[in-house]
Amino acid sequence: MTQVYINGARDEANVRDHDSLDVSVQELIRAAAEARNNAYCPYSNFAVGAAIRTSDGTIYTGCNIENGAYAASICAERTAAVKALSEGKREFIACAVVAQQEKGFTTPCGVCRQFLSEFAINGKDIPLYAAKPTNLPLRVLCTSVLQLLPNSFSFLNGK
Ligand SMILES: [Zn+2]
Repeated sequence: MTQVYINGARDEANVRDHDSLDVSVQELIRAAAEARNNAYCPYSNFAVGAAIRTSDGTIYTGCNIENGAYAASICAERTAAVKALSEGKREFIACAVVAQQEKGFTTPCGVCRQFLSEFAINGKDIPLYAAKPTNLPLRVLCTSVLQLLPNSFSFLNGK
């Protein structure tokens, strides 16, 4: 069996066969993989695609968009999120991230984890699926935003 590493640690319990996942999840992963083709990443050459499903069933996609002024760059996850938000969709029910790394899966950066956590419905978790675009048979890391960011910052907690 091929060993899978997540941030350097072996993790197989949450890694599943793509074909065993719900068709709605497969659709989300496919949308993220297609969005990855639009990545603008001349500096890192690391293309990422993301897709977010909102509570009305709509899928919003995004890719990473870099800039010569590096701090102005934006990740694929937040690109997808701001597209949904700017269309008035604030309830995220699932997210997929697709990128190619030889070992392990690409999960959202800390900023994106925090950003996404704000748009879980009533504090419910957002399932998150990390996949690679090409490796077959396709395996998928099945996790969630709150698993990736326990005890996230919430301004509302103080009220
Ligand atoms: Zn990010």
